[in-house]
Amino acid sequence: METTCQKKAMIEQFLFIKKLISIVIFTAIFFTLWPDTIFALNFDHKTLITPQLIDPVIQPEIQIVKGVVKRSDTATSLLKKYLPLKSIYEIDRQSREIFSLTRIRQGQPYRLILQEDTLIRFEYEIDREDKLVVHNKNGTFLINQEPIKYDVELDIITSTISYSLFEAVKKAGEKNELALKLSDIFAWDIDFIRDIQSGDQFKVLVEKRYKDGKLAGYGKILAAFFTNKGTLFKAFLHQPESYQDAPGTSGYYDENGKSLQKAFLKAPLTFSRISSKFTKKRFHPIFKENRPHHGIDYAAPRGTPIKTVGDGTILQAGYNKGRGNYITIRHYNGYITSYYHMCRFAKGMKKNRQVLQGDLIGYVGMTGYATGPHLCFRMKKNGRPVNPLKYKAPSAKPVKSEEMEQFIANTIQLSKRMLTKQTLASLK
Ligand SMILES: [Zn+2]
Repeated sequence: METTCQKKAMIEQFLFIKKLISIVIFTAIFFTLWPDTIFALNFDHKTLITPQLIDPVIQPEIQIVKGVVKRSDTATSLLKKYLPLKSIYEIDRQSREIFSLTRIRQGQPYRLILQEDTLIRFEYEIDREDKLVVHNKNGTFLINQEPIKYDVELDIITSTISYSLFEAVKKAGEKNELALKLSDIFAWDIDFIRDIQSGDQFKVLVEKRYKDGKLAGYGKILAAFFTNKGTLFKAFLHQPESYQDAPGTSGYYDENGKSLQKAFLKAPLTFSRISSKFTKKRFHPIFKENRPHHGIDYAAPRGTPIKTVGDGTILQAGYNKGRGNYITIRHYNGYITSYYHMCRFAKGMKKNRQVLQGDLIGYVGMTGYATGPHLCFRMKKNGRPVNPLKYKAPSAKPVKSEEMEQFIANTIQLSKRMLTKQTLASLK
């Protein structure tokens, strides 16, 4: 009984092995000798071999969470769902030199990239140019600041003003940011509060930045024309070849290479009203008699920031009965400017301190002889009073002679584009 059983089992085993060998041989012959048959049977060759070749990183499920920082958000509230507190503190500690997580601001976009519910990357847009990038490599963090990538397209935008630059920019379908960029370029020639009138026009060649197909703001303005009260102002961006190493060397110039920047700003404050002009005779509201007024009074709310109109050194920062809190600044070529009646000075304003054009020096107040909050702004040249509204400020330095050839070639190109209304992309 035992032997027949054993024999039977052995025969079955033998038959099974024989079957297996024939299947293997048949399959081998089939695949090697008739490859055409395989394709004829509509096998997808790739699906047979690629699963082993695919990068294992791509296979696990990747999830991207996008958001905008809300008012109540902190780095901890954004990350605690995905990382233990210990890791968040570690990221905070490591990123401090690049960007402190306490500086995360409302309204800024961020992205969380998850792989099977594990956070592998966190991105936060610090500003329009750069983002903070945190890589999580199995619990160790690599932190960098990287430029934000945009799709950039050049566009020509033109509009006519009815009552303000903002309104004209909006009418052209663009964002407020463009109005601000444009007014920065012409700030020395045009006072965008007082000088603008109906019928003024602009045309601008500007980089538009897109992210995920949506307009995300503007890059550089390459050229801009502005007609104000019938006068055409032109601006061309000049970036000398060396500007990558020294970004301060790029700027806006007219078609002759003259800088649009002037030695003095048009006014020491932006949003204000002139309440008293420069005059040889005016009835003084406190002394009740006619006296010369060798300055411009700008009425503005208490606390309005006051800027120095030009580079210079502080001669005096003090108080007297008439001027109240005042600052006097010495500039180049014998010019002196004074700012009276401030409620207080900006931090660090004292004698001999160097200031640069546009620096905050103090705030509008009504100290000294004043009937309401205002800034009394005065200018002198070689000791003699000058009317700041009538006087033409000297220009900042022109394009350097060794860069002139490059500047002119570039300006001709930009002018052509402005006149043909073609974009750079379509000219390529
Ligand atoms: Zn005054």
